Amino acid sequence: MKAKLTERLKKGEIIISDGALGTLLQAAGLEPGVCPELWNLDFPERIEAIARAYVEAGSQAVETNTFGANRFKLSHYGLQDKVVELNSKAVEITRRAIGPNRVVLGSVGPTGVLLMMGEVSEDELYEAFKEQCVALANAGADAICIETMTAIDEATIAVKAAKENTGLEVICTMTFDKTIQGDFRTMMGVSPEDMTIALKEAGADIIGTNCGNGMENMIPIVEAIHRTLPEMPILVHANAGKPHYHDGKNIFDETPEITASYVPELIKAGATCIGGCCGTTPDHIRKIKEKIIDNN
Ligand SMILES: [Zn+2]
Repeated sequence: MKAKLTERLKKGEIIISDGALGTLLQAAGLEPGVCPELWNLDFPERIEAIARAYVEAGSQAVETNTFGANRFKLSHYGLQDKVVELNSKAVEITRRAIGPNRVVLGSVGPTGVLLMMGEVSEDELYEAFKEQCVALANAGADAICIETMTAIDEATIAVKAAKENTGLEVICTMTFDKTIQGDFRTMMGVSPEDMTIALKEAGADIIGTNCGNGMENMIPIVEAIHRTLPEMPILVHANAGKPHYHDGKNIFDETPEITASYVPELIKAGATCIGGCCGTTPDHIRKIKEKIIDNN
């Protein structure tokens, strides 16, 4: 039996996860308007190649290509009846790429429908997350990684659906922006402290933050989580710096060296799992790994 993530982290291990998937899919030819998860069926070798590149760079945990594979997001493409197939196939691909001993993280993103706007009921949200998480678990994912959340009600429902219906450890991360006052809030107004309390209460095993910021801004967010719950393992997936807008696109182009330079401070603040989000590449993961080794 593979050791659980939380057991490894409790022993002081720093776990390196992977970097961006979405921006690499675009680089591999994913056109706007195409469902990214459909590539699990149409181009599995491209997804597998990205996962392999992350393993070669040093990732010990790799996410599945299932960020939008819930029935609400898939319905934009008429694929709402393919939740089980797309999630199962994704786990298969990642497992084949990374082998039995590394960790397959089943990625679960937001549904895009808002409880507070009355677009959906709590039960409907719960059932959608349950459907996806059970599919990921049945296919052999090692943990569920709920990410890029901004609404606390949706995040806690997702955590509960994962905890109550799979035997897996559950990670949940939210996306924060820096306010003009200099503190951090999600788009829906949630502070890192409020997130930490609510997600712990919902049953999350690992809490953290992804996207929205480069490594530098992740440090105060991690400090806030760590202050609120010192025992909680913390995962950080930072973007390759702040985006700048060019040619109709957001460009993330912080170099691997700069991204990695914040790693010692991030670990000092309390981060225990470190990887990347938008714009990061296998080279960012390689440099992060070198920094972690130097830091020990
Ligand atoms: Zn991102």
